[in-house]
Amino acid sequence: MSEAMLALRDVRRVYETASDPLVVLDGASVELGRGEAVGLVAPSGTGKSTLLHVAGLLERPQSGDVFVDGKACGRLGDAERTAIRRNGIGFVYQFHHLLPEFSALENVMLPCMIAGLSRKEASKRAGDLLERVGLTPRATHRPAKLSGGEQQRVAVARALANGPAVLLADEPTGNLDPGTSDHVFDLLLSMVRERGMSALIATHNVGLARRLDRVVTLQDGKLVSYEDNPT
Ligand code: ADP
Ligand code: MG
Repeated sequence: MSEAMLALRDVRRVYETASDPLVVLDGASVELGRGEAVGLVAPSGTGKSTLLHVAGLLERPQSGDVFVDGKACGRLGDAERTAIRRNGIGFVYQFHHLLPEFSALENVMLPCMIAGLSRKEASKRAGDLLERVGLTPRATHRPAKLSGGEQQRVAVARALANGPAVLLADEPTGNLDPGTSDHVFDLLLSMVRERGMSALIATHNVGLARRLDRVVTLQDGKLVSYEDNPT
């Protein structure tokens, strides 16, 4: 296995439907080098979320495999896949998916406590992350009391809470106005860079994607360079 931090090899993902099976990924391959940030720009319905879910070990492909730090994950059991995901992969969604009953701080503490940190240690780490995303004054607020941009900044802090080596983001700024979108994207990217993480970020915003190391798109279920195949 190469030096890739995350690799997809010949991934095929088919959904069963009432009519014909829907082939979404059909020989999709990509490698993220250590510290490499890659953009995924493709029209709605082409399989960006499916690809990220497979990459994040949330879904299993019908064939092909996902390698996390060189480890083939396809044949692993659910418990082992969950452990790799919790320790090694951070996820940011378009809609923040924060828990509404918990404060911003508690939302970021949760993954730390699941990973085994004490409440005190988790609180310290979550507090530091919220400071990094500029939300110390909002730490005790519940998500509903935060703006869309603030909610996404909490989601970014939460995704990085376990110090994952890989960040997957599914249109992380797709629900924000342009100015806020730029700010959140830059914050996300600078945190990825600071930590030397590898990232795969799906976005509709080509301008933002071009701030990354390279941009890929989905074509007929395969990943190809965006430059070669503008969509
Ligand atoms: P994107 O994120 O690029 O919009 P998705 O990965 O969400 O694309 O979806 C790709 C295609 O797969 C779409 O046609 C979508 O309707 C279909 N799809 C996604 N998830 C499922 C599912 N669980 N069952 C059946 N079809 C699905
Ligand atoms: Mg999607």
